[in-house]
Amino acid sequence: MLPPPKSDRIITHMPKCFSPNAALQTKEVFHPLVKAACQTPREDTVSFNVAKVIVVGDVSVGKTCLVSRFSRGAFNKNYKATIGVDFDMERFQVLGVPFSLQLWDTAGQERFKCIASTYYRGAQAIIVVFDLSKANSLDHAREWLEDAMKENDPSSVLLFLVGTKKDLSSPEQLAQVEQEAVRMSEEIQAEYWAVSAKSGDGVRDFFLRVASLTFEANVLAELEKSAARDGADVIKITSGPKDKRGRKANCC
Ligand code: GDP
Ligand code: MG
Repeated sequence: MLPPPKSDRIITHMPKCFSPNAALQTKEVFHPLVKAACQTPREDTVSFNVAKVIVVGDVSVGKTCLVSRFSRGAFNKNYKATIGVDFDMERFQVLGVPFSLQLWDTAGQERFKCIASTYYRGAQAIIVVFDLSKANSLDHAREWLEDAMKENDPSSVLLFLVGTKKDLSSPEQLAQVEQEAVRMSEEIQAEYWAVSAKSGDGVRDFFLRVASLTFEANVLAELEKSAARDGADVIKITSGPKDKRGRKANCC
């Protein structure tokens, strides 16, 4: 048996979004069916215990620093030359259930725009990263998303648009870029976050949110499948007023 995860990765409440204007959902509680399922876990729902999360974006926007700030708790320390490394496994406990995120970072192939389809395939969440201090990296975010979506089912993937290097911008510059980023988030149905891997600002809150929303979506999908298997009328379980599973249909 694995030991429990670090205490700051034990999630008992739905973490807050960054901006209610650009959130996948604004509820502050987990879906009641998810809570109930976690109180009486069944063997056939174990497959929700791990989720693949991929990180995409232009070279140098800060993808590796974002992941390593969370996984190692430091900036540019143990900086991995990402060659050959597929993913980091980050462990959480959500509503008492062990849950892991497989965080996939590139090995620099984004420089040549030649990311293998296996990198994208089967992602449950996509983190599109841009540099808050470089406006053109936000323009490119849409292209990265389109590429990643070629290998994924839009109805079962959660999108996050993350602006990094918040520490480099003045509040005025930030406000200007954020306006555009929030607009794009709405359009692509993504949740927007602004963070700094250097100072750590927002990084942990962001990954706890990714873990919670991915976990919730996985459990709901699993419950739907097992209801169908049990011969019940096929029910479509939605996760709130904004049904992210349905509303991605016109994305990309
Ligand atoms: P990647 O190519 O997208 O993986 O980008 P990296 O994570 O390698 O970062 C590229 C450069 O941006 C490095 O020189 C980092 O030190 C710098 N960087 C990354 N995140 C931040 C941040 O939050 N603030 C600042 N000031 N610099 C950052
Ligand atoms: Mg990198």
